[in-house]
Amino acid sequence: MSRLPTGFAAVDPPPAWPPTKGRFRPERLEAGLDTLAGVGPALRRRLAKLGLERVGDLLDHRPRRYEEPVPRRRIADLFGDEEAVIEGAVVRTSSRRGRGRLRILTAQIADGSGQIAANWFNQPWLQEKLQPGTHVRLRGTANRYGFQVRSFDLNGGGATADFAPVYPASEELSTTKLRELVDAALPHASDRPDPLPAALKAERELPLRGDALVTLHRPRSLDEAEEGRRRLAFDELLTLQLALVRRAAEREQAVAAALPEPGELVQRYREALPFELTEHQEAAIAELDRDLARTTPMQRLLQGDVGSGKTVVALYALLRAVEAGRQGALMAPTETLAEQHFLTIEGLCLELGVSCALVTGSLKSTLGGQADVVVGTHALIQKGFEFRDLAVAVVDEQHRFGVEQRSALTEGRAPHVLHMTATPIPRTLALTVYGDLAVSEIAKPPASRKPIVTAWVTDERSSEAYTRLRAHLAEGRQAYVVCPLIEESETSSARAAEQEAEQLREGELKGFRVGCMHGRLKPAERRELMALFKARELDVLVATTVIEVGVDVPNATIMIVQEADRFGLAQLHQLRGRVGRGAEQSYCLLVSGPKEQLTESAQERLDAMVASTDGFELAERDLEIRGGGALLGARQSGLSDLRFARITHDRELLEAARETARALPPETLAPEVEALLGDAEHLGES
Ligand code: ADP
Ligand code: MG
Repeated sequence: MSRLPTGFAAVDPPPAWPPTKGRFRPERLEAGLDTLAGVGPALRRRLAKLGLERVGDLLDHRPRRYEEPVPRRRIADLFGDEEAVIEGAVVRTSSRRGRGRLRILTAQIADGSGQIAANWFNQPWLQEKLQPGTHVRLRGTANRYGFQVRSFDLNGGGATADFAPVYPASEELSTTKLRELVDAALPHASDRPDPLPAALKAERELPLRGDALVTLHRPRSLDEAEEGRRRLAFDELLTLQLALVRRAAEREQAVAAALPEPGELVQRYREALPFELTEHQEAAIAELDRDLARTTPMQRLLQGDVGSGKTVVALYALLRAVEAGRQGALMAPTETLAEQHFLTIEGLCLELGVSCALVTGSLKSTLGGQADVVVGTHALIQKGFEFRDLAVAVVDEQHRFGVEQRSALTEGRAPHVLHMTATPIPRTLALTVYGDLAVSEIAKPPASRKPIVTAWVTDERSSEAYTRLRAHLAEGRQAYVVCPLIEESETSSARAAEQEAEQLREGELKGFRVGCMHGRLKPAERRELMALFKARELDVLVATTVIEVGVDVPNATIMIVQEADRFGLAQLHQLRGRVGRGAEQSYCLLVSGPKEQLTESAQERLDAMVASTDGFELAERDLEIRGGGALLGARQSGLSDLRFARITHDRELLEAARETARALPPETLAPEVEALLGDAEHLGES
């Protein structure tokens, strides 16, 4: 029996229900900006230069700051040079030329209380829009010519509002234009689904995501803006943490051979060392022993300030591989550093009856692949080099290697990997970037070490610095002089170093044996120079930043850094780490031009160096001076993707995100997490 439709939905369900009005339409956020009214090809290009391509990008364009609130005044009540908002109607306009190329547009504005001449500079196109009768809202200051307009709204708009957002803009794209565009995009704020469970939002007092975007761009108070930012920062940090959880899970999948218990060889190693290991070194060793006993490949980061004794721990790890009948490798980022490590390690290996080989670009050795311990540069991962049976790999100064280089080391085999770094990463950052990657920290250098005394002297007193240096030399100590940083090229900085060394030989250091070390020397020459310096055949090493890492001569007790203001804080700290490696009191003298000629951040850097010898403290300070995005490897590690989070301020939020990431279902924020993992390949690896 057939029935006619009655028109009641419950009786006659339609083939498909029409979508509800308020649903999310995330695809709208993906739409190109030319889908917004008034955006043509030219504007689109200018937007693209600011990284703004899709509607969603505009919503994520965080205001740099907000305008201060100012009082609204009647025209008759304007006084002094107070910034204020006035509202009224245009009476008439005129325009004229001022001095130079200045074009002045004047509009007589009237409200009930009076009339005033409002002036705009160099915006002649406005005249057409200011037809008599147009309602305007102006923000600016009264002066003797009338009212100087800073921002304005015609028939509505938000430019003159209290807390109007000020966007990162460009020459070609004003903050005003950006405000207009954000206004057009803002209705889509609610098209972005809110992936967080309601209970979590309630618990953390987080607003809805759509609301957060609206308050970020159109706050009624700074608190409201901050509340919006916090929510968006939380999502961002949560995404990062979820990505880290996923990476960690992937890592757990790989299988490595577990190494047997520590045995006789490492016992002999301990006995051969001329000192007792410190408590921190022991702790790091215990941690890596635990890792090596597992069938999941070790991925441990060994952090420790320069000279804290990481190499000793690294060699222990390598020997653990050797006593299991397998192979250990240490990979360093430069030839100098690889050679340095080799010099340190070779002697001990010889004593222990362990074969040891150096493999660098200029020193290819096919036999190297057979040695028990192989020390080298990236030559180790190049075609043609084969390991016999790699079980433990140590990567020194890991941040200097690219992602590909590090993955090449583990490709096709699953060695246990220990990453070493002397560039301490503040804890906040370590949590952000590494998540739960195992970190061992050598927090204190051997107790015999005295903190290096650092002084900052200006040019006119640099001769006193050399007097001080000569006194050390006279006592049989050695010294470094670091040449000014020259950015252009290795060749020009090498030439400058040679000149400097020559001048010092003729002048301040006459009578002393002065060597010169730079990046243009052939590896053999460099090796010879280092050997001479180690053997005390040279008194002073004049050097470029090639001595930054790895050089280890305990008898060198004083360093002069010329034009120290040109170096970064991390780099200065690394350089300073070349002295203070023995039991003697060591000194670092930072020479710069007159204080008042230095930039503020240069002064802050030098002050920080004098105030602290603690690498972690300095790293925190560096982060404050420079901000998170500027850090090494920031792009690869996903840090540069942080738009809303402020690493140094959002510590609590970060901890909350970490906790949450582990409790949430793994598919939370999946698209964001995948996008991040795609961009930041290196995320979650040290
Ligand atoms: P890092 O690699 O962390 O910069 P190193 O391992 O090169 O530091 O050690 C720096 C210096 O300290 C070396 O000369 C080393 O022999 C010495 N050293 C290492 N551990 C100890 C210790 N426990 N006691 C005394 N000296 C040590
Ligand atoms: Mg070292």
